[in-house]
Amino acid sequence: MTAIHEAGHAVLCFLLQVRFSYVSIIADEDWLGVVIHPKGVYGKNFDPEIDLSPATKDKIERHAKVCFAGQIAERIFFGKLPKADQKRSSDDDHRAIDLASDVVGGGKVLQAYIDYLYASAEGSFRNPMHRYAIRVLADELLAQKKLGSKKAREIITKAFNNFIEKHQNHDETFLKKWKWLEFE
Ligand SMILES: [Zn+2]
Repeated sequence: MTAIHEAGHAVLCFLLQVRFSYVSIIADEDWLGVVIHPKGVYGKNFDPEIDLSPATKDKIERHAKVCFAGQIAERIFFGKLPKADQKRSSDDDHRAIDLASDVVGGGKVLQAYIDYLYASAEGSFRNPMHRYAIRVLADELLAQKKLGSKKAREIITKAFNNFIEKHQNHDETFLKKWKWLEFE
């Protein structure tokens, strides 16, 4: 379960070009094996009140989506959300909400914005190739416990290529298993 969760973060990082240094399922390493972004979202002297350029806003958005990716991956593969995420109260949720509030403040707009960020992250995993990469990366994580960013990227790229190959060869059994997803 942790492996799928962390792989979800990592695959969305890959897709949205968010930097991370490694992905790990070793529980006592940092905080529960979360994908670490070495430089954080903001630069050193960042102040959201004065520095909300379109580029910064875009960066914050991508990071917030990545925060949601772990629980979305869990829901896709295991059918339900972890308890804390049902109430948007997990660490990942808090982080995403903090980021989102730097962009839009609070209230109704914040709620709508968070819903948008969540739906957008979820949308990235409708694509079966992306989910397949989560599965492959999670299996590798279970074997290795920890993967550097470079290695993780290689695994994801290889999974994508493998998926494309199966698609080109019309591997029906494989393609039946990995279909486009619809979310209610
Ligand atoms: Zn997480």
